[in-house]
Amino acid sequence: MKIGLISDIHANLQALEACLRALDQAGVDLVACLGDIVGYGADPNACLDLVRQRAAHTVLGNHDAAVVDKTAADYFNGDARTAVEWTRAQLSADNRRFLEELPYIRGLEGDVLLSHSGAAAPPAWNYVFNRVDAEREFTAFVQRTCFIGHTHFPAIFVSGSGGVVHLPPPAYRLAPGERLLVNVGSVGQPRDGDARAACGIFDVEAGTVEVRRVAYDLEQVQERILATALPRSAAERLAWGV
Ligand code: ZN
Repeated sequence: MKIGLISDIHANLQALEACLRALDQAGVDLVACLGDIVGYGADPNACLDLVRQRAAHTVLGNHDAAVVDKTAADYFNGDARTAVEWTRAQLSADNRRFLEELPYIRGLEGDVLLSHSGAAAPPAWNYVFNRVDAEREFTAFVQRTCFIGHTHFPAIFVSGSGGVVHLPPPAYRLAPGERLLVNVGSVGQPRDGDARAACGIFDVEAGTVEVRRVAYDLEQVQERILATALPRSAAERLAWGV
């Protein structure tokens, strides 16, 4: 079974469509979404509609939580908070209900756990940037493989007999006895200096994981953002991948 993984879409419809096409071409059997469907971008309802149609499993992100008042909006800085408030006013009642009902974490067949941020304490929205952060996380879940987002930086952490190592993307094959914690990067607002959208592919039987980069029409997305009352920075940063 091949699982396609998408995270941190942030209401960027063109990037979401491009990633779903890439996952379809890669022959994934199902798509799982790691949260932050909304926030920053101009198309929250269209992205929610598409995720609801295409993702077999979805977990809650911190921006999703904020727009439905599950996380205090003052957790966010100026521009992110403006985006939360703008998004809250756009949401359809149906999409709001969908977000309200999302779980923080979800286990899948194939010894897989999905979580937006660190699975040790999901409502705390802990970031997993480095090996020390990852060591804490590996003690908090029992599954062989855990997929996360939240930092918008793709990363692969492997726990084996020598401890935890932090490997650069894009790909890794699990060896017997090893466990995996993978950040699949961000579909709609990458921050690692590569402006292309990111998504993940996990082949359960082969034990292989890959973070794939996908080009999309980002000028169109910038125009959509600039035509709204959303902060200009949300459009500008897309070109730089920060
Ligand atoms: Zn995010």
